Amino acid sequence: MSFQKVRAFFSQKVVLPHNVQPAVLIVKNGKIEKIIENVDKHVMESILQNYPDIAIENFGSLVLMPGVVDSHVHVNEPGRTEWEGFVTATKAAAAGGVTTIADMPLNSIPPTTTVNNLRIKAAKARGKIYVDLAFWGGVIPGNQKDMQSLVQAGVVGFKCFLCPSGVDEFPHVNEKDVQEALAELKSTKSVLAFHAEYESECTTPTGDPSCFRTFVQSRPHEMEVSAIKMICQWCKASNVRCHIVHLSTAEALDLIKEAKQCGAPLTAETCHHYLLFSSEEVPKGATEFKCCPPIRDKMNQDKLWRGLQDRVLDMVVSDHSPCVEELKTKGNFLTAWGGISSLQFGLSLLWTAAKSKNVKLTQISSWLSSGPARLCGLDNRKGSLSVGMDADVVVWDPEKKFKVTREQILFKNKLTPYENKVLYGKVEATILGGEYIYRDNQLCEKPIAKKAISVLFVYKP
Ligand SMILES: [Zn+2]
Repeated sequence: MSFQKVRAFFSQKVVLPHNVQPAVLIVKNGKIEKIIENVDKHVMESILQNYPDIAIENFGSLVLMPGVVDSHVHVNEPGRTEWEGFVTATKAAAAGGVTTIADMPLNSIPPTTTVNNLRIKAAKARGKIYVDLAFWGGVIPGNQKDMQSLVQAGVVGFKCFLCPSGVDEFPHVNEKDVQEALAELKSTKSVLAFHAEYESECTTPTGDPSCFRTFVQSRPHEMEVSAIKMICQWCKASNVRCHIVHLSTAEALDLIKEAKQCGAPLTAETCHHYLLFSSEEVPKGATEFKCCPPIRDKMNQDKLWRGLQDRVLDMVVSDHSPCVEELKTKGNFLTAWGGISSLQFGLSLLWTAAKSKNVKLTQISSWLSSGPARLCGLDNRKGSLSVGMDADVVVWDPEKKFKVTREQILFKNKLTPYENKVLYGKVEATILGGEYIYRDNQLCEKPIAKKAISVLFVYKP
């Protein structure tokens, strides 16, 4: 490792795992070496005595929080690089205070379903990433024999679909495939994540395709509930870690709660768009709001917030899933690609929605950082400001407002339901391994993350 200057980051509002308080982070060689919590006027003098060459940054009353870990991002490179790529996705992440992303196994071609495919993807990412990067593996019918080697290669977990995924090269699995996958994972610490929508028989949607309601009716609550019933049973019976991605329906919260109370190793995430938008407010034909499962009504949204507060839901992620603008088939919800782009704005989105709900900064941090880091098995390095952890930090101003404009969007395709929205919580700086990757509205010039963290074997020097 190259020598790095010792740095000290000081603020009146440092978000530690259990409280927010004035503190100094001493950072050396990319890691948090020390945290000084009782900051008085003698502290700086003693720091200078102990570290004569130290660079001290005083952030005043800006919030210092662990860098955001976004465990649900679709980068799509290679294969659909025109949808999103490693450079644009990780630049957007850096500007949004996200210091680690975990890339989903599908929408790139090939999908991450074998070690060879993982190698192909990791090779494409090399030298292009501005933040740390981890990879999910995928489970499709017949690739269970590849799972153990993917675990060894360092994937953070596996994702599968219980309904068609939307792309041909990533078919969905049946119960037998799931059972085989769970058996493969039994001897590991890995996790099986589910796109939790299940439909026993296919129904063709009817109604005006430009009405959001027509689309919502085609993916009712029951689709999620029936999938989650099965997942809870599988998780309880196998005792293998299971995870529900992008929960939209609040009707499944009791099922998840009950499974957790029984001791099942189950976690669940929801996304910014389910917490910010309700189906009532989606304009006619505005397909940038389409994702699967769909955004539901206001009452459902309130219950999702309660689910977070009650710890039934463990984290909030972006599910950043862009495509080229043509595929969003303006005006037709039934034909449009399902996916919402938001990677750069997650922290501000969540904060804007949380501001009126008496949410604490420690909760925000747990939903955005420590929760996803734990899911991905990265919590020994990422997700909290503690001694020995990577010095990944987001510095932000909770009171500062800004308007989302196309010009400032760094992800590749700019279509997003957040355009022109005024958000609270401006990211002022992002620090990865003790180095600035974003500051004063500017990205650092070169990709800084030298390796993809979850495929160490690919990057062996
Ligand atoms: Zn997704």
